[in-house]
Amino acid sequence: MNRTIARNLERSDEESMSRGNDHFDFDFIVIGSGFGGSVSAHRLAEKGYRVAVMEMGRRWTPDNLPRTSWSIRRWIWRPNLGLRGFFNLRFFKHATIFHGCAVGGGSITFASTLLAPPEKVWGAGSWSRLADWKSEMPAHYETAARMLGVTENRILGPADHLLKKAAEAEGIGHTFYCTKVGIFEPAEGEQGNQTFPDPFFGGEGPARTTCIGCGGCMMGCRYGAKNTLDLGYLYLAEKHGARVLPETRVIDVKPLGGVSDGSAGYEVDTIKSTALIRRQPGRFTCRGVIFSASSLGTMELLFKLREKGSLPAISSQLGQHVRTNSESLIGARTPGYSEDVSQGVAIGSGIYIDEHTHIEAVRYPRGSDAMGVLTTILTNGRPGPQRIALWLRNVIVSLLRHPFKTVRVLQPLGWAREFVVLLCMQALDGEIEMRWQRPWFWPFRKFLVSRGEKVPTYIPQANEFAQKYAQLTGGFPMSMLPEILFDVPGTAHCIGGCVIADSSSHGVVDSHHRVFNYKNMYICDGSVVATNLGVNPSLTITALAERAMSFIPPAAETEWNDSATVVSHSSG
Ligand SMILES: Cc1cc2nc3c(=O)[nH]c(=O)nc-3n(C[C@H](O)[C@H](O)[C@H](O)COP(=O)(O)OP(=O)(O)OC[C@H]3O[C@@H](n4cnc5c(N)ncnc54)[C@H](O)[C@@H]3O)c2cc1C
Ligand code: SF4
Repeated sequence: MNRTIARNLERSDEESMSRGNDHFDFDFIVIGSGFGGSVSAHRLAEKGYRVAVMEMGRRWTPDNLPRTSWSIRRWIWRPNLGLRGFFNLRFFKHATIFHGCAVGGGSITFASTLLAPPEKVWGAGSWSRLADWKSEMPAHYETAARMLGVTENRILGPADHLLKKAAEAEGIGHTFYCTKVGIFEPAEGEQGNQTFPDPFFGGEGPARTTCIGCGGCMMGCRYGAKNTLDLGYLYLAEKHGARVLPETRVIDVKPLGGVSDGSAGYEVDTIKSTALIRRQPGRFTCRGVIFSASSLGTMELLFKLREKGSLPAISSQLGQHVRTNSESLIGARTPGYSEDVSQGVAIGSGIYIDEHTHIEAVRYPRGSDAMGVLTTILTNGRPGPQRIALWLRNVIVSLLRHPFKTVRVLQPLGWAREFVVLLCMQALDGEIEMRWQRPWFWPFRKFLVSRGEKVPTYIPQANEFAQKYAQLTGGFPMSMLPEILFDVPGTAHCIGGCVIADSSSHGVVDSHHRVFNYKNMYICDGSVVATNLGVNPSLTITALAERAMSFIPPAAETEWNDSATVVSHSSG
């Protein structure tokens, strides 16, 4: 067992003893420290519970964050290959899914856009009619927005001004908006990089520094200006006594004492996630468990635990209703443009090109050019061999017509300074299923495998808009190479898979996030979201976790007997 774990356990043992005959290491163990996990840890610690947060990612500070995306070892998470960063990519037939892996979960790499979805989302999907969402949720969104320091972006960079100009040229200028972000921005007319005592939590939080608009949010903020969870919810949770164990991957959760519904508590087994050989196994006991490992992470862990017999009663609905948003990444490269388009915040503004389709202007910080190897000349057309042939033709024609310029935009150096990513999202519902299977190409072990209808990678209106945008700067409209070659869209917004429902026949948790068939077990992360939100999901995940935690009584009043309610159809 590593020294940190041993030290933490010593301390929690002392506390257990001082609380009488409580022989559990912790009251609650939270698996994952992202949006759902940090809210849970903070609210439970505040209610007097002894909380541990097991997080497989590392802890990041402004000093150890990578300077640019070329620092692959500190950017990408693939510990078996020695890559110990905070950004993870998972490849599936239906989507390449990007997600965060760190103390603070996705908040370390996220672009900080925090939007509430339209009210109609509460009337769709398996959660509709299980609560009076429309009247309950506004208060939780308000708390979530306050805790995450949501503000309207005031730092508009050249990419945002170009977006506005292009929208005006298309007659849709009125749809331009500045994004709502969780960033500590300087007051109007003031310079960034100024440090102030805690501006958000009445003096309980850490000192913070204002944003300088470097565009680096997705590479981790090296100025302490982005409102990441380790500077908010998680910071406060630790202040209230929660223990955060970084680089600690949960590999097993099983009921204690042979009591299959978990009413006698749980054993949680861990290994050191960044160790290749000495994996330092850990064993902890607790009364309750919160799964907050993200949509993919919680699905994967629960599939494994159901299969190995640790939690055999997890609903057969696990892996159903997974949503990835209809997203397409296109963009424009502007060699020779007078301004540095990497300036601003990562997602500073957006526009609506029609009722269902919106486009956000996204950027990486100067020097973070590694993504440049994945961008190529814009190519229209239906996915498949024809689109690949068309792409090859486009590249050859462009090389013949403008050899110098074409080579210039296809090579990655200077990419971030010249490239605006246009993130196109469509609020059209489409879902896939995740299964735990042996893939045909690797029959030796099981993996998460996606099934269902393919999400479109080609959104014609978006491509047209990219062309107009590029014309404004004399630049080149661009596509993402993997979308053309493999017809697989990329998405940072995977949700669902353990959705809220009336019973285990339709979902994995009830409307209070309690796992069907187990006691004192909850899921608080993106996996419970039961419908397409049409907007970036983190604010909703936070608000839902706030609501779920509001139902758990203070430690002094709990009877440790909380289980999911099945809603019968007649009462429904
Ligand atoms: C590049 C990028 C940009 C994004 N930008 C935005 C944005 O602007 N706005 C927005 O709303 N959303 C954005 N997102 C999406 C957002 O990050 C996620 O929706 C959000 O983080 C999900 O929250 P969560 O609580 O479900 O889990 P997460 O925040 O993903 O946290 C889950 C944590 O669990 C840990 N974990 C997983 N398995 C285990 C295990 N077995 N043991 C221990 N720990 C485990 C993981 O390491 C991770 O840290 C972005 C994502 C990416 C990748
Ligand atoms: S733009 Fe730069 S300073 Fe501002 S929040 Fe993002 S990374 Fe931090």
